[in-house]
Amino acid sequence: MSQATRKPNNPMPKEWTAKELSQGFIADYKAFNFVDGEGVRCSLYVSGCKFMCPGCYNVVAQNFHYGHPYSQELEDQIIEDLSQDYVQGLTLLGGEPFLNTQVCIQLAKRIRQEFGHTKDIWSWTGYTWDELQQETDDKLELLSLIDILVDGRFLEDQKDLTLQFRGSANQRIIDVPKSLASGDVVIWDKLVR
Ligand code: SF4
Repeated sequence: MSQATRKPNNPMPKEWTAKELSQGFIADYKAFNFVDGEGVRCSLYVSGCKFMCPGCYNVVAQNFHYGHPYSQELEDQIIEDLSQDYVQGLTLLGGEPFLNTQVCIQLAKRIRQEFGHTKDIWSWTGYTWDELQQETDDKLELLSLIDILVDGRFLEDQKDLTLQFRGSANQRIIDVPKSLASGDVVIWDKLVR
């Protein structure tokens, strides 16, 4: 099948698990950036994704062995960076954070311990909100620790570079606490486009 007609992979519920796939590797860490969500943010790019979206913005990070292992030193650095007053929060992206839940849950819990809810946590995922509701317990645990989720595969035929924080029109910026409380998807109330 050609690149033009290929679609992202569509897993069955619970087909892909972090337990089987994650190597605990990190593709990149970027402190103090302005592009991965609202405000000044620190971004952790985890390694490994099986959606294989054509046109993926970070193809190298689809490999679960790309980069280097997550470490205590990196975690301590992230916490120190987040402690700056002007930093709004952490962003998880990749790769697929929900296939690297061991690392992401550990870090998200540490952030709640250190900062409570004074720092927010955003995450990107190739899973849709509805798919995540049928997923493994670790994915649901990570979801419960996140404030804002940008959901869904990148679809080239819906590509739109004018959208806030997302590449294709199917993706949504979701307020996670409000959505979990109401049982339905609640879109981020600061969405402009
Ligand atoms: S879900 Fe994201 S990281 Fe994974 S292949 Fe698609 S665009 Fe790339």
